[in-house]
Amino acid sequence: MHEMAYADEIRQLVDQNRQGKKIVAVTVETGKLAGIVPEALSFCLETTLQEAFGEQVVVTLNCVDGEALCACGTSFKVSEPFQACPNCQGYRKTITSGKDVFLKSFEIEDEDE
Ligand SMILES: [Zn+2]
Repeated sequence: MHEMAYADEIRQLVDQNRQGKKIVAVTVETGKLAGIVPEALSFCLETTLQEAFGEQVVVTLNCVDGEALCACGTSFKVSEPFQACPNCQGYRKTITSGKDVFLKSFEIEDEDE
């Protein structure tokens, strides 16, 4: 189950960048071509991040379209791997994005309030 591996990677990344501060929210983005189950990833993220940083952490997971570049020179958005090019209807495309799971942003607690 690689959703857990992704969740763990996100946790490490947040931990490295939070400068010892308290985390309140984490937003993660996943490409629709990443081959993960969004519900499973969402669950893993919530479990992993709340365990590491506390139950106050609000986890948001956004699923975004990927992008592909066709052999005919057209680049287009793809939401599933076997999508044809809208210009030439062909399948000779290279996926240029949409296969990644990454940390979009995170919020730390504002100590002044
Ligand atoms: Zn094309």
